[in-house]
Amino acid sequence: MDQTENNTSHLNGTHSEGLMKKRQDYLEWPEYFMAVAFLSAQRSKDPNSQVGACIVNQENKIVGIGYNGMPNGCDDDLLPWSRSADNKLDTKYPYVCHAELNAIMNKNSADVKGCTMYVALFPCNECAKLIIQAGIKDVIYLSDKYHDSPEMTASRRLLNLAGVAYKQFEPKQSRIVIDFSSINHSGMNRVNCLEGLQSP
Ligand SMILES: [Zn+2]
Repeated sequence: MDQTENNTSHLNGTHSEGLMKKRQDYLEWPEYFMAVAFLSAQRSKDPNSQVGACIVNQENKIVGIGYNGMPNGCDDDLLPWSRSADNKLDTKYPYVCHAELNAIMNKNSADVKGCTMYVALFPCNECAKLIIQAGIKDVIYLSDKYHDSPEMTASRRLLNLAGVAYKQFEPKQSRIVIDFSSINHSGMNRVNCLEGLQSP
């Protein structure tokens, strides 16, 4: 809003394009990477839990993305998605791959040593093992809702021993909206294009 005013006042000045201030409300890196993890989670078929993970190297380049799902080639219509059943084989747990596993396995770099993982949920003990063995050095998580479970307790124990740092993410905004139509009418883009649009 004052952004638009700023830009407008610049436009009213003399040949202002080069003087226009850069946008101030752009997504910062941590917000961006966590949002990528959350967007990826929207691919999950799990009816109860959608978790995404995004691995970033020291140059702020994304080297792996994953979400929770059944293993490749295993028809996810033929495997159970329930959380509880008389027989554990009728729950999802023996089959599902967590987001962290998929993000590591999906890496598009030779390895993920020294990388940071952004993940929606604090990693379980099985994922902690993978994170440690993969050489990931930092974990940024959003929710820690299973903090008191044995899986998370064991996970913290392993991460602590291995020297993997973990930190809860505190988002600056509670939601990030992706609006496909904004490309046609966003304030910033419109202001940017104003001069070009005046001639035709
Ligand atoms: Zn896990």
